[in-house]
Amino acid sequence: MTSSQQTATQAPETGTAQVPAVSVRDMTVSFGRSRTLVRAVDGVSFTVAPGEIFGIIGESGSGKSTLGRAAVGMVTPSGGEVRHGEVDPFALTRKQLNAHRRKYQIIAQDPNAAFNPRMTILESVMEPMYIAGIGNRAERRERALAMLDTVALSPEMSERYPHDLSGGQKQRANIARALVLDPEVLVCDEVVAALDVSIQADMLNLFWRLKRDFNLTYLFISHDLNVVSHISDRVAVMYFGKIMEIGPADEVMNRPLHPYSEALRSAEPEIAAYQQRSRERIILQGEIPSALNPPSGCRFHTRCPRAVEMCASTEPEQRELAPGRFVACHFAEEMLARFAPDGGGQKHQKVG
Ligand code: SF4
Repeated sequence: MTSSQQTATQAPETGTAQVPAVSVRDMTVSFGRSRTLVRAVDGVSFTVAPGEIFGIIGESGSGKSTLGRAAVGMVTPSGGEVRHGEVDPFALTRKQLNAHRRKYQIIAQDPNAAFNPRMTILESVMEPMYIAGIGNRAERRERALAMLDTVALSPEMSERYPHDLSGGQKQRANIARALVLDPEVLVCDEVVAALDVSIQADMLNLFWRLKRDFNLTYLFISHDLNVVSHISDRVAVMYFGKIMEIGPADEVMNRPLHPYSEALRSAEPEIAAYQQRSRERIILQGEIPSALNPPSGCRFHTRCPRAVEMCASTEPEQRELAPGRFVACHFAEEMLARFAPDGGGQKHQKVG
């Protein structure tokens, strides 16, 4: 099979010979029944290598958070396969799954949900170890303080209550709460979205340092292309339950091959050089469609500035246009042809 024949049901590979930390194949996640059935995730495939930062970008309602939760076994898919290494998490017994889940943690946008307002930060960070039956109280306290120190929160800070901390400090404590269980994979779901722009870069640097020091693997979910592309090795662009494009982060950022990726890129404050040259700025019209009534053909056709008649009736298959570049658009080859071999516009550096 040639690369151009590779389709959406085959998970875009990590490009390494390693067993993926997370592998998702043709995953579907549905909610509701018959007329109220919503496919939040619809036939999605990808793999994430151990130690990789895999970004998932999409607007609100794109299904990215549901995908992240299903990928680590916190939401049960309606169809398809999930593997953690060689393990099928949905084939484990409840007891096995509880132990397994320690290795797959989620850090959400709102750290307040993780904290009991009547418990000190230290008690809250010790709590997951108590629930998991790890160590005695002194050992849990020692590990919690060590992880709080790792995220730059002092012992004095650990005796405070959640309402005494800033949003950034609470998110750091939330990260420590995940780290005490010695995870392998973290789903970071809009983890900097609620933070002031001035501290977002510090937080991204912290995530990058933790990944390096603890050999973590991230699924890094955000609506913000700039945030995701600055920290990720590869990114998947999601729209209405489907992946539109997967590729190396700097490639997707600088040379988007899908009209939706291009529109997201265009909305960033620093518009890519090729767009500056053409003075083209893409403004997407309309809202994301109703989940109860998904568009026929290409899901993006109701908002796509490049749509033609065929797009409303024929769904494009995801194809590999260049090594590691998977795109679901009938005109992806034309998008690729616009870039000269030495082109690519403004380069964005990863943190770290
Ligand atoms: S298939 Fe058509 S509607 Fe979909 S992204 Fe490509 S051009 Fe736009």
